[in-house]
Amino acid sequence: MTLDLATLFFVTVFMLGLGGVLLLFAWLQNRSTTALAWWGAAFLFFAPATALFGLRDNLPEFWSIVVCNTIYSLAYGLLWTGARVFEGRRPVFLGMTAGSIVWLLASQFSFFMQSLPLRIVLASTIVLTYCLLFVWELWQGRKEGLMSRWPVMAMVGLHGLFFLVRIPSVTSLPFPIGANSPASPAALIMVFGPLFYAFALVFLLMALTKERAELYQRRAANIDSLTGVANRRGFTELALRVIARSNTDKAPLALLLFDLDNFKGINDRFGHRAGDRVLVVFAKTIQQTLRPLDLVGRLGGEEFVALLPGVTPDITMDIAERIRDSFAAAAREVDGHRVSATVSIGTASATQAGYDFDTLYAVADAALYRAKQKGRNRIEPGRPSLTMVSQALES
Ligand code: GH3
Ligand code: MG
Ligand code: MG
Repeated sequence: MTLDLATLFFVTVFMLGLGGVLLLFAWLQNRSTTALAWWGAAFLFFAPATALFGLRDNLPEFWSIVVCNTIYSLAYGLLWTGARVFEGRRPVFLGMTAGSIVWLLASQFSFFMQSLPLRIVLASTIVLTYCLLFVWELWQGRKEGLMSRWPVMAMVGLHGLFFLVRIPSVTSLPFPIGANSPASPAALIMVFGPLFYAFALVFLLMALTKERAELYQRRAANIDSLTGVANRRGFTELALRVIARSNTDKAPLALLLFDLDNFKGINDRFGHRAGDRVLVVFAKTIQQTLRPLDLVGRLGGEEFVALLPGVTPDITMDIAERIRDSFAAAAREVDGHRVSATVSIGTASATQAGYDFDTLYAVADAALYRAKQKGRNRIEPGRPSLTMVSQALES
């Protein structure tokens, strides 16, 4: 079988264009992922640049050298911009177009246009720079924990490496190859390279944005939209892990249950919106009082919960008192209303109730009930009953 380079070039151009269309299509399905639009645009520029490159034997130099490389540089600039946007940074238009501007300026000089090695060095430097910038952008966000980030970085990094090697080997590497060249091994690499690249990179970029979207969805499913703290599901998931770890370390652990006092009355007197504001104020107060490693959750309605690893019963009471006090101060006036909201708190400690979520919860809930009965706006420490503890030990 003989390989026809012209056909292969055509397939590559088609694949690049199709890749651009697919990325733009994915962006249309989820407009918030603007990186896809930048990447789609990049591939839509790669396609004509590659066509001009393939037709170099049939076209005047202006098209096959000046225009071709200007479009290539812009395409790489767009690719990098997509990476920036993906990481939540602003596009830098000067940076994005810098490669094409440099190329256009250089091509005004006849010594540059007449020197193939010089042109290869400049083109390779532009591509290498954008690839490094791309990898650097994605590297910044590595803590996010997206698996697909690594193959994307490897792909673009390897691509840059290829152009890094091109620079010192400018005189020994066979070049250039157009659609009319014979199908030598070097020619096949030049043509199959971009083809493979288009396939793999489009696929990986789509996988990357999809993984990010799924991560956000999973997070949103565990977060209470009004207050921004974990919802019951999110809290329970994390709490079980923290409790298991404390159990292994036999470290102290405290669970606090909160229920806002006479909240129905607040809604009735000041309206549901004011009630919502009070809930937000409470979530803020509790987060400001606790450490970042403590878990906070909204169990529903006006009931909240906190899990404090490493905290002993006596300190628990101090912390609870600080929350009760700060909230009473913060919720004295909300949105111009004299709301004077307060909170009742029940506590439970692992040193008394063991390392079982349900038992800790039951002990704190019983304490909270006592706090309500004793007049609200107060804290009651948990008193585990013998049945609770024996149930916890059995389970
Ligand atoms: P107690 O001191 O005994 O806890 O009395 P309470 O009025 O706080 O208790 P109750 O459980 O009777 O009322 C809770 C109220 O919380 C009833 C419900 O309308 C209100 N509520 C539940 N979820 C929300 C919410 O998301 N926003 C607002 N504004 N109110 C809510
Ligand atoms: Mg309640
Ligand atoms: Mg209540």
